[in-house]
This record gives sequence, structure tokens and C-alpha cells, in this order.
Amino acid sequence: MSVLLRQFPTILNPHFMAAFVAVVMSLVSSISAVAGPWSVVKVNGREYVTDENVNSFYKFERFAKEESDRVFRHPSLIMSWKTGSQAIYINNIKFNLSFPIVEQGGKAMISIVDLAKLVDPVLRPSYIKKPISFDAVVIDAGHGAHDSGAKGVKGYEKNYTLDLSRKLEAELKARGFKTVMTRSTDVFLTLGQRVAIANKTKNAIFVSIHFNSSGTKTANGIETYSLAPQGTSSTNGGSPWSSFLNGNIRDKENIALATSVHAHVVHEFKSIDRGIKRARFNVLRGINKPAILFEGGFITNPTEGAKIDDDAHRLRLAASIATAIQKFKGAVGKKKR
Ligand SMILES: [Zn+2]
Repeated sequence: MSVLLRQFPTILNPHFMAAFVAVVMSLVSSISAVAGPWSVVKVNGREYVTDENVNSFYKFERFAKEESDRVFRHPSLIMSWKTGSQAIYINNIKFNLSFPIVEQGGKAMISIVDLAKLVDPVLRPSYIKKPISFDAVVIDAGHGAHDSGAKGVKGYEKNYTLDLSRKLEAELKARGFKTVMTRSTDVFLTLGQRVAIANKTKNAIFVSIHFNSSGTKTANGIETYSLAPQGTSSTNGGSPWSSFLNGNIRDKENIALATSVHAHVVHEFKSIDRGIKRARFNVLRGINKPAILFEGGFITNPTEGAKIDDDAHRLRLAASIATAIQKFKGAVGKKKR
């Protein structure tokens, strides 16, 4: 929890949080009046927009500055930034930026890349141009066969991913979706084979299921990855990539899908929020439809690992992801007013 969020205790109100989860993917009804235009500021060759510009564009009701903190308030949404930080919070959910918030002349500025590829599609998913119209979900159970994935306190990752994927398949079917499993047994698939299955499935989104591991037993929580936009670094480091990848076609839907699933699950399970992250995993790079990689907790953590080992917990997790996907569909399918 950032200092800044502690200054706004209402965000911790459970009613507020519940409202957020319901509302975050359908904010267009509230944040749709756009004042514009954007004025771009260059800092060290990179393009940014100011806090004040963001405030006026989205017509937030209140905008507060205090030293390095910025808080934008709307009846159903609070967004907060801190200069120098490479993460922002939208209704208590952590988003990792591609570039830190910079400060110039008392103004906190966000990069155009983060504005266009993160903030805007999250605040206004229904403004995503030509979103995919999907009725199918490709479910990718991570690992398999000799690739057992991480070794947890109670079992191997490949077994948990397969079981959660099967449960997710049932939950999605119950909600009227078609499903395709990249694997439904304990077999090995290359990442390329997984991508090929996703790409040949029409009107679909792609969800890769994994569980986390760490040498530090205390590490826990949920994180969700979407493909890093062109010209940015991954959240976990490395230098920026200039090349445009196939998966970058869906940048806006990728982040909106990641937000929908991540925020819903983190809220429902009151999990540690490790944030929505960016990466160029092979399984995300080449997919021509909205795609995410979901890490449903640490199997190396004794407490979290025991939960993940529990069948009832995995069933709840599957239901939670399925509901989030349903909400995502409703949010991006909505027509602009
Ligand atoms: Zn994995």
C-alpha cells in the first residue's frame, strides 16, 4: 500500500472495492466525456503528457497534488501516481508502467506509451478500436509431461495448471463460451504449438495458466502478464525492444483483459497484488488475439501452496477467472456513445 493510498481511506472500503470490480471494465458510462486535446511534452527524447492534461482530458471530479503524489478522483475510480515511480494504482490495483512518472516544473508526467497502451484502454475499454468479437477462449495449461514447471510444497506446477484449466473450461462453457484447450492431458507442447493453436482458433482470446515459484518461501500473491508494447522494456528488466511483434496488434485489448482478470481475482481472493506486468514471453509474442499469462499464486509458499493444492480453491479460482472474462467481453463489446 502506498503512502498516498493511505491518505484516501475510502478506497479501502469494501463496498467501494466491490463497486470497482464491477465498474472498472465499464467505466465508459462515467468516463466518456472527453475534453481533449493532448499536449505532448518531450523529456530526453520521450513523449509525455502532464497530470493536468490527464485530469482535464478524462474530466476527473477532483485532482490533488501533494509533493510527489498525484490523485485523480472520480465517483467510481481513484487513480494515483507518484513521480519517480514505475507503478501507478487504479482503484488499488497495481499497474507496472513501461516508463517511470517524471517530474518537470512541478508537473508529474506519464509517457504517451503508458497513456495509450495502459491508462486509456483500462479507463475506457469500450473506446478500443475494432476490438475482437469473441465467443471462444483458448485455455493454455502451462508446462506438461517432462516439463513439470515449478516444484511446489505439495506438487508440480504442470498438474495444477492442467487441473485449473479443466475447471476453467467447465466454468466458461457454463457461461456460454466455446473453449479450446492447448492440452487436456499430461503432454508436452512447445510454445510455438500453443501459439499455433491460438492463432487458428477464430473469434477467441487466449489465457495461459501458470503458478509461480520462488527461492524465497515467503513470496506470494498473484500477477498477470500482458505483452510489452513496442519500444518498451519488460517489467522484470532488460533493454527496450524496438521491433513490433504480432501480439502488439492487440496491445489495448491485452491490457484490458489482464486488468479484468487480475483485478477481479485479486479482489475476490484478497490476494497479495503483485501487479499487472509486461513481458515478451514466447507464448504471448506471436498471438494475433487478446492474450494474457496468469500466475495464480506461489506453489513454493507453504500457505499459498497448500491453498493451490486444495481442489475447492482451484474451483473458486476457475469460476473467478471465468466471470472476469465474461465482464471483459461485456466491456469491450459495448458500443461507443
Ligand atoms: Zn509456469
